Amino acid sequence: MSKRDYYEVLGVAKTATEGEMKVAFRKLAMTFHPDRNPGDKEAEIKFKEINEAYQCLSDGQKRAAYDRFGHAAFSQGGGGGPGFGNEFGDFMSDIFDNFFGDGRGAPGGRRGGGAPGRERGADLRYNLEITLEEAFTGKAETIKIPTSITCETCAGSGAKPGSKPRPCATCGGYGRVRAAQGFFAIERTCPNCHGRGEIVDDPCPNCHGAGRVNRERTLSINVPAGVDDGLRIRLAGEGESGLRGGPSGDLYVFLSIKPHEFFQRDGADLFCRVPISMVTAALSGEITVPVIDGSQTQVRIPSGTQTAKQFRIKGKGMPVLRSREVGDLYIQVFVETPQNLTKRQRELLLEFDQSASPENHPESAGFFSKVREFFGGAAKA
Ligand SMILES: [Zn+2]
Ligand SMILES: [Zn+2]
Repeated sequence: MSKRDYYEVLGVAKTATEGEMKVAFRKLAMTFHPDRNPGDKEAEIKFKEINEAYQCLSDGQKRAAYDRFGHAAFSQGGGGGPGFGNEFGDFMSDIFDNFFGDGRGAPGGRRGGGAPGRERGADLRYNLEITLEEAFTGKAETIKIPTSITCETCAGSGAKPGSKPRPCATCGGYGRVRAAQGFFAIERTCPNCHGRGEIVDDPCPNCHGAGRVNRERTLSINVPAGVDDGLRIRLAGEGESGLRGGPSGDLYVFLSIKPHEFFQRDGADLFCRVPISMVTAALSGEITVPVIDGSQTQVRIPSGTQTAKQFRIKGKGMPVLRSREVGDLYIQVFVETPQNLTKRQRELLLEFDQSASPENHPESAGFFSKVREFFGGAAKA
C-alpha cells in the first residue's frame, strides 16, 4: 500500500513552520477525532494518518530524515536510525492530553474499543547511575521499581468480590462528559466517576477500589558498552500497569555516569591529565598512566616536553555504542614546578640558571625580546 506524503496529509507546504503545522494538525484532528465520528472507519484511518504525519514532522530529527529519505526513513531497515517508526502509536495519548488536556491518560476505551474507564498505566522514570568503568564494559543491572499491579482479589474491577460496580449516572457509563467552550465542544473526564464509567459502592478491601496494588518489581536491564551520560532507555510496557485492564505504561531508564577520578570523557575519547617532574620534562623519561580497562601503560616523554603537551594512545578510549570502533586515550602532561627545596637544591638550580643561555628557553627569550621591542617602539613614537 503506498503511503501519502506527510505534508500532503497535513495540507501544509514543505517549508511550513512548526506553528503552522500545529495549527493544521489541530484543525484536522478535531475534525477526524473518533469521538466526533463514532463508527466511521474512514475517519479513524484518516485520524491515524494525520497523527502519524504530525508525529514525524513535528520532530526536527524525524522531519529531517523524512525530507531526505521519505517514508523509507521509517520502514524496517530503512536507515532512519534506531527507534524510528515504531514509536508513533505511543505518542498519540500524549498529544491528546496536551490538546484536550485533562492531564491524565484518556480512557483507553475511547480509542481501543474496550470498556470505558480503562486507563493506560503511567510511564515510570528510573535514574540509573553507573561508573565509567561500567560504561566501558557494559553492565547487566538488576533494578527494583516500585510499581502497581492489577489487584488479584477483584481482578482489577475495584469492587468487593461478590458485588458489582454500577454504571455512572452522570456520564451514562461513557466515562467522559461534553461541555461547550466557545466554538468547540470539549470533552472532559467525568468528574463523578473519574473516567471509569462506573461507580463502586462496595470497594474491594485489598485495593480500596483502585483496582491495583503497589508492588516492588525486579527487572534486569542490559546496559550496553559505550553508553554515555544522559542516555534514555525505553522499556515498552514495563511501566505502571493500566487501570481496569488498560495497557501498561513504559519505563524510561535515565542513565548518568559518575565523574571519574582520572578520566574525562569526550564522546569515545578519554582525557587524563598527568603531572611530570621538571627533570623528566627536560631530560626525557617514561611515565606510567592508568587505562580505563584497569591496566596501565607506559608513555615516553621526550626531552624538552612542555606543559599541555598531549600524547595519544590509540584504541584505549571508550567503545562506541553498537559498533566495533573504540576511541583513544589522550594523556595531557603538565610540568610540576618543584617546591619545598633544600639549600643544596637551591644552589644547584641557581648554578643551572647562571649557566643557562637563551637557547635553553627559546619561548621566554623570544617573548621578552618582542615585549621590549613593542614598548621601545611605542615610547619613541
Ligand atoms: Zn481489588
Ligand atoms: Zn461518570
